[in-house]
Amino acid sequence: MEVQRPHAVCIPYPAQGHISAMLKLAKLLHHRGFHITYVLTQLNYTHIMKARNFLPLTQSPTFRFETIPDGLPSRENPDTALDVADLCFSTAKNCYAPFMELIHRLNRSSDVPPVSCVVSDTFVAFTVGVAQELGIPVVLFWPISAVASLMHIYSSDLRDKISKNKDANFGDYIIDWIPGVESIPLSDIPTTAWSTDPNDPFIDYIISEVASKSYKASALIFHTFDELEPEVCKTLSSMFHRVYTIGPIPMLLHGLPESDEIDKIECNLWKEDSTCIQWLDTKIPKSVVYVNFGSMTVTDPEKLVEFAMGLSKSMQNFLWIIRPELISGDWSTILPPEFMDAVKDRGYIVNWCDQEQVLNHPSVGGFLTHCGWNSMVESMSAGMAMVCWSFFADQPINRYCCCSQWRLGLEIENDVKRENVESVVRELMEGENGREVKKKALFWKERAEVATSVGGSSFLNLDKLIGEVLLSGGQHFPNGV
Ligand code: UDP
Repeated sequence: MEVQRPHAVCIPYPAQGHISAMLKLAKLLHHRGFHITYVLTQLNYTHIMKARNFLPLTQSPTFRFETIPDGLPSRENPDTALDVADLCFSTAKNCYAPFMELIHRLNRSSDVPPVSCVVSDTFVAFTVGVAQELGIPVVLFWPISAVASLMHIYSSDLRDKISKNKDANFGDYIIDWIPGVESIPLSDIPTTAWSTDPNDPFIDYIISEVASKSYKASALIFHTFDELEPEVCKTLSSMFHRVYTIGPIPMLLHGLPESDEIDKIECNLWKEDSTCIQWLDTKIPKSVVYVNFGSMTVTDPEKLVEFAMGLSKSMQNFLWIIRPELISGDWSTILPPEFMDAVKDRGYIVNWCDQEQVLNHPSVGGFLTHCGWNSMVESMSAGMAMVCWSFFADQPINRYCCCSQWRLGLEIENDVKRENVESVVRELMEGENGREVKKKALFWKERAEVATSVGGSSFLNLDKLIGEVLLSGGQHFPNGV
């Protein structure tokens, strides 16, 4: 008889980047012998199924999907982008009972082993209470950089200091008191970690439902590796008993022997357009700039036109992913006809792609990104240098670290202008600074490979997480030191 697998219930915050990162973590755990229940919200499940023409996500008996409601009332237009704060409030208020009921149901089922642990995105930390009630370990996964995570953990202090400096010009206000973090302007701190409004309900949520739950969870995972953020990792280890830096997760996955059934599981909210790969196949090595602003960015037609004209004037080949919700309206009627004419032989635009496949395609030579953490990690894993433009949440600090600390990116100003896009993109592809950041990108790829190879810090931390926490036999200890 097969030995019963330990059973991890994995639940992401219900947005694309979080879903993909948690899915990869779940695949790693599955490879280490766990039975996985992966929990999606009903609405996202419907979108994912639609994007894959209702093909089942998996047939594996040991990797299964379940759904719970996101708690939001039904929307007039279910295709509109979801508001980050609404999703946080709603999941915190409404998902506790359905999640608890799901675990009870799994425990009653003779089909699956009893649930032994919960691996939860930190932005849906209502799960901590559920796991504590059941007496099983719960690990919170911060799917962002260690420094961005630390800044969220410091959101209460940020609120206090900012309210005492009400008259400051916040653009120039320097944060130099977070241990392990060098002086940094407030404008580069995650927009989801601070506010000038002392009663901002979203910051209340971050303080009470995210930061403080980190002290109550059994352990924390940060999606980074020690060499990338040494000082911040030290700070986090001094604040919590059990901290595991596990990243880049895409690289840990690539190190595994192939298992077709599990490898193939994908949870995309949009349908991938593979024609862009055929288009890339026609281009010479390293000649294409890949442009993608992720799954949540929303911009206005003026900015879209500035990007378009800058790309056009840079005279580089480009593959641009324009998600339908990136702007309101149809991009093909917003972009000027002279743009379409000028780029018809060297530009290609689609809705959504397999980003990792694109980043690893030999024709791609640079990535113009909105600095979402998953995109940065995937870019680093591919040794790809970046042009960095940030929009909100943790993106400003990711841009700052990428361009000023790790130096594998060149920066585009927030208030984007076509001349700036043109010159920075050209510099990345042809200039001296471009050569420097490309060298750094290869350097960080190599360091990440060391961290994720046998004996590397992230590789060992995954083992430790499993042995010390996930298989700890139901014990639960608060995590604050
Ligand atoms: N992604 C993708 N295809 C696209 C755009 C994005 O597969 O056309 C994936 C990308 O690989 C990443 C995630 O969506 O894993 C986006 O997450 P990220 O943290 O970069 O940004 P967010 O969407 O959360 O702003």
